[in-house]
Amino acid sequence: MNEIEWFFPERIEEVIEILKKDKVVPHSGGTGILRSDFRRIKGLIDLSLLSLDYLQSNNGIVEIGAMNTYYRVVQKLSQIAPNNVLIKSLSDSASTPLRNRITIGGSVAYFPIWSDLMGPLIALEAGLSLIGEYKGDYPVLEYVRNRELRNKTLITGIRFKPDNWDSYYYRATRTETDYARFNITILLKKSNNRIENVRIVMIGNKERFKRFTALEEYLKGKNIDRVKIQEIGKNLEVSFAGKKMGSPEYVKHLAGVELERGLSRVLAIS
Ligand SMILES: Cc1cc2nc3c(=O)[nH]c(=O)nc-3n(C[C@H](O)[C@H](O)[C@H](O)COP(=O)(O)OP(=O)(O)OC[C@H]3O[C@@H](n4cnc5c(N)ncnc54)[C@H](O)[C@@H]3O)c2cc1C
Repeated sequence: MNEIEWFFPERIEEVIEILKKDKVVPHSGGTGILRSDFRRIKGLIDLSLLSLDYLQSNNGIVEIGAMNTYYRVVQKLSQIAPNNVLIKSLSDSASTPLRNRITIGGSVAYFPIWSDLMGPLIALEAGLSLIGEYKGDYPVLEYVRNRELRNKTLITGIRFKPDNWDSYYYRATRTETDYARFNITILLKKSNNRIENVRIVMIGNKERFKRFTALEEYLKGKNIDRVKIQEIGKNLEVSFAGKKMGSPEYVKHLAGVELERGLSRVLAIS
């Protein structure tokens, strides 16, 4: 293994210069980097001395610094937006020691297929702040779809409007600390008996993630008692690969059942 040089910048301006170096990449929690091919890495930029651990709410927008760990997000967000779906998704993610280590910035950049962060961020239509080769504000979806945006670029934070969504989060796992086979995020706004708005995202399928926009359109504006929940699972347009937790067909069936359960829960249909 080649020798790796560490950098410990204290100011963002320093990071911008270091990012220009060949094969030098950011290091946040380090839990994803551990799996990297170290022949491709010459240097690591430790981000812990930068002040990227803020979490604040300004004019109805929540801003979370990239170096917040999952644990810190749960802790701080509970004080300003206690019903936010990120609290549900990150509280049960991985294990306690890992939640103390895994960061927001590293997890957006890494986006594993078992991510408990990305479903909520896609559903919340979050934005990212970037510096380096690419700078400025980018929708999280654009970052996910365009790998070029990772090149010599640092995520400094994320932001989203928490609004007042009812929410539901489900992780399909065999044990408490297992990687999720898939997970489901549902955000819902209803008034009286009518669905005003809904967003549904699944992580872990063949395409890595899926936002069910056709289903969202079907549900929007509908009276809750006219929603045919038991039709939704079997018509779900999603596919899975691999054999974890059963065949792809079985996992698709399971995902349909869990989506129906989640919708019943947020719509309060018994
Ligand atoms: C055993 C185990 C179980 C896990 N289970 C889960 C789980 O159930 N759910 C879940 O959501 N996660 C889980 N994780 C975490 C997940 O797999 C990744 O390891 C994690 O998301 C990476 O975050 P990090 O902060 O450690 O990033 P790092 O390892 O520091 O970095 C990951 C990648 O992102 C780049 N990077 C880091 N910071 C930034 C930044 N600010 N801007 C741009 N690029 C950056 C790095 O260069 C690297 O390429 C698990 C991890 C382990 C080891």
